[in-house]
Amino acid sequence: MKDIEITRLFFVKDLEKIENLLYTFVYNQTITHKKPVAMSNSVEEFMAKIIAKNPGEVEFHQAVKEVTESIMPFIMENPKYRHAKILERIAEPERTIIFRVPWMDEKGEIQINRGYRIEMNSAIGPYKGGLRFHPTVNLSILKFLAFEQVFKNSLTTLPMGGGKGGSDFDPKGKTDNEVMRFCQSFMSELSRHIGADTDVPAGDIGVGGREIGFMFGQYKRLRNEFTGVLTGKGLDWGGSLIRPEATGYGQVYFAEEMLNTRGDSLKDKICTVSGSGNVAQYAAQKAIQMGAKVVTMSDSNGYIYDADGLNDEKLAFVMNLKNVKRGRIKEYADKYKCTYVDGKSTPWDVPCQVALPSATQNEISGADAALLLKNGCFVVSEGANMPSTPDAITVFLKGRILYGPGKAANAGGVATSGLEMSQNSMRLSWTRQEVDSRLHQIMKDIHATCVKYGMGKDKYINYVDGANIGGFVKVAEAMLAQGLV
Ligand code: NAP
Repeated sequence: MKDIEITRLFFVKDLEKIENLLYTFVYNQTITHKKPVAMSNSVEEFMAKIIAKNPGEVEFHQAVKEVTESIMPFIMENPKYRHAKILERIAEPERTIIFRVPWMDEKGEIQINRGYRIEMNSAIGPYKGGLRFHPTVNLSILKFLAFEQVFKNSLTTLPMGGGKGGSDFDPKGKTDNEVMRFCQSFMSELSRHIGADTDVPAGDIGVGGREIGFMFGQYKRLRNEFTGVLTGKGLDWGGSLIRPEATGYGQVYFAEEMLNTRGDSLKDKICTVSGSGNVAQYAAQKAIQMGAKVVTMSDSNGYIYDADGLNDEKLAFVMNLKNVKRGRIKEYADKYKCTYVDGKSTPWDVPCQVALPSATQNEISGADAALLLKNGCFVVSEGANMPSTPDAITVFLKGRILYGPGKAANAGGVATSGLEMSQNSMRLSWTRQEVDSRLHQIMKDIHATCVKYGMGKDKYINYVDGANIGGFVKVAEAMLAQGLV
């Protein structure tokens, strides 16, 4: 047995040597005189280096590991990516910017927050990705989001690199004036690093139309230019129709595409939605339009369960409550006399066929996932980024359900941001119908890419592999073409 193992080791080493020689022969003239070093050839080895280099950044480790598990076999089959160390380079931000954000509150007291922008990868276009304002924001969370964004943006087929940013500032409970002063201070520094052809931020948790407006105003004032430097702008000043709706709508279009592969549709399905912010609101709206019954919504304090289902009127109440009054979801239960579960921000114990997680990362644990499946759920389409823990993903894949990971299922938001950038460049505004039909087509194309790279021999579509490999190829090819930069 031992002898066989040793022979195999030698054989693998020889194969590597032959491969390196071949590689040197083909690429040597243009790239290097040295024999290329073979890439870490196992997920564990690769991850050990990532963890050592980025200590304590657990969310970042989680995101990189998930992608690496999908991509490593593909890379092993394609030595050109291995030798150029594409995966190592993709996992290292091109630039990380951290800065102080001082501002003054209503009492005249000085407050200090920390601002960030992670410029992860610009191989296929300017950095693009949202800004998150939430007290939990830290380097690890923004690096995981920026890393995911690289693959997501690639999947959209639009020319956008990946980035993410934000601050540990909490807009909750602040006056409009305080939010404005914070946004102006934040943009005073960020403006040095972004631009319509360099880096184009958008919204994310805690950053909606109000915050984008204040930041755009400050950028314009500092630079004396009116450009498409941010997306998610108001309609009268460069925004795109359908951008507010896009992430939630796209998430539901993706769910429908997945269901279609089994000759099924969203019609009459019971849907649970988590969150009650931008993504959740429009996921609920589109699901209802497509004939599903949406029975839950949540915020960080608890969730509502409305067995009769939400309708247009009830959803309008949620939108006013969350976007204008900035109140708590409990008020929905008070008004419509339905169940409110206090202290539990996720509704995964409510029986459903379709789950639309739309709040935050790691909001579905392994136990939640098992409960979802036990209660009949067979579709999960992620509006939030990385809402499922690795354990939950294992449960979904083992259960052979239709599981659409965020980097594919929620890519409609950034895709429509890409459409906003195009309209800004052309100084044109497309109609609602035109933007929506482009969004719908992009979601179908992303789905098709996932099927192409994720369909197994048994015909089960592993959308995790599909999205990761599909997103990787375009970026990797661009990086190869652009040399060692
Ligand atoms: P949002 O408008 O700020 O809404 C976030 C919602 O999630 C709120 O209901 C919030 O409740 C809840 N939430 C946030 N953090 C939570 C936590 N730690 N625990 C429990 N609940 C929490 O943000 P959004 O734009 O809808 O974003 C939601 C998710 O979608 C995020 O993962 C984001 O990265 C992802 N995403 C957004 C877009 C986009 O276009 N906006 C695009 C792609 C992906 P509270 O109000 O109580 O905090």
